[in-house]
Amino acid sequence: MPDKNSASAEAIVVGGGPAGLTAAIALAGGGIATILAGKRPAKPDNRTTALLAGSVTALETLGIWGRCAAQAAPLKTMRIVDDTGRLWRAPEVKFEAREIDLDTFGYNIENRHLIDALEHRAHSLPKLRLVEDEVASVVPASDAVIVSLKSGGTLRAPLTIGADGRKSICRAAAGIKIEERTYPQVALTICLKHSRLHHDTSTEFHTPTGPFTLVPLPGNRSSLVWVLDPVVADEHATLDDVELASEIERASHSILGKIEVEPGCGLFPLRVATARHFAAKRIALVGEAAHVIPPLGAQGLNLGLRDAATIGELAVAAHREHRDIGGANILAHYDRLRRADVGSRTLAIDLLNRTLLSDFLPVQGARGLGLYLIDRIGPLRRAVMREGVAPTTAQPRLMRGEAL
Ligand SMILES: Cc1cc2nc3c(=O)[nH]c(=O)nc-3n(C[C@H](O)[C@H](O)[C@H](O)COP(=O)(O)OP(=O)(O)OC[C@H]3O[C@@H](n4cnc5c(N)ncnc54)[C@H](O)[C@@H]3O)c2cc1C
Repeated sequence: MPDKNSASAEAIVVGGGPAGLTAAIALAGGGIATILAGKRPAKPDNRTTALLAGSVTALETLGIWGRCAAQAAPLKTMRIVDDTGRLWRAPEVKFEAREIDLDTFGYNIENRHLIDALEHRAHSLPKLRLVEDEVASVVPASDAVIVSLKSGGTLRAPLTIGADGRKSICRAAAGIKIEERTYPQVALTICLKHSRLHHDTSTEFHTPTGPFTLVPLPGNRSSLVWVLDPVVADEHATLDDVELASEIERASHSILGKIEVEPGCGLFPLRVATARHFAAKRIALVGEAAHVIPPLGAQGLNLGLRDAATIGELAVAAHREHRDIGGANILAHYDRLRRADVGSRTLAIDLLNRTLLSDFLPVQGARGLGLYLIDRIGPLRRAVMREGVAPTTAQPRLMRGEAL
């Protein structure tokens, strides 16, 4: 007799974070019968995500953004301020969205609101079934992947999307190795209220331990990502609210006036990691299962959403033509399409982060010169801004506002 907890589908998504939910919505919205199996994260996620214009367009196209809009703050100006106090300092660089004919570079939203909107949309799709459970094992076979749930029961589908984060069991099941390195840095994250207006401006102070980034939220609120030495990060996390607020006010040079911290401070050790392949054995990796980068320049989840949009586009097209959606051709195509985008951004962010940590004068000089050139040369500035918002190497249909 068939087990009542077992089921077959056309696609399975493992992991209900933002990348997994987006992939599942793209697949199911395109007519593919999909099961998403995800366990709740152990701790609530108090971070925010700066979503760049292409990601916002994709969320609009998938019918998700309507529920996010009121909770999100526009990012019209981005400032980079050299606060290293070193001999060779870079000039302040200010990017304005209107310089490249955009109203805004994107929007910043708390992850809890983004997840809420994604889950709401996921529940509305008849082709998507959500299973709240931990995946215990993933076993690829010649014509399908078999996914076993911790509470019993198995799922089976010709395509599985591994959206199960940094310690992905899908990646291990596909036999994909990962190149990774840790940095001597921890990001402290917290949301703040402040007395001055942020004017829709995000400010990234570059300090000798890493960036200190204030990103607008609706009203007189902002989120902070403060990259610190691990010992100092631990010390800051144990300060009481008043002490922490005054440390933040000092480090921000009071640009937002009086600071009040909100409950829930997070600590995230920084690392960089890239899977050697993004797909194999009927398993395609999206989001942090495929790549992890430090939180500079708001790239991580924006890459993850482009992964989800790309695999969605390829699988939906194959499904319409009655081809095998988890076949080797589709997976090889997905790997090719994502490699340049992920590789170039990982390299740029890794280099920028390492130049901040380096005490070697020529390296600091090269960073200063790079920012000086970006500041002074108009066409270069605009090219950098356009590339940051919408990469030329990766524009899946959803990012262009085209339905699948
Ligand atoms: C401090 C900080 C700030 C950041 N700011 C930005 C930003 O401004 N802009 C940006 O684009 N990116 C940003 N990022 C990156 C962004 O947060 C990540 O890219 C994103 O959260 C990754 O999403 P994901 O869905 O891939 O993984 P996750 O959010 O890790 O989701 C994985 C999910 O899979 C589930 N799971 C894992 N294993 C299993 C299993 N065996 N069975 C079932 N479920 C499982 C987990 O519970 C989780 O829900 C930031 C990162 C950090 C650290």
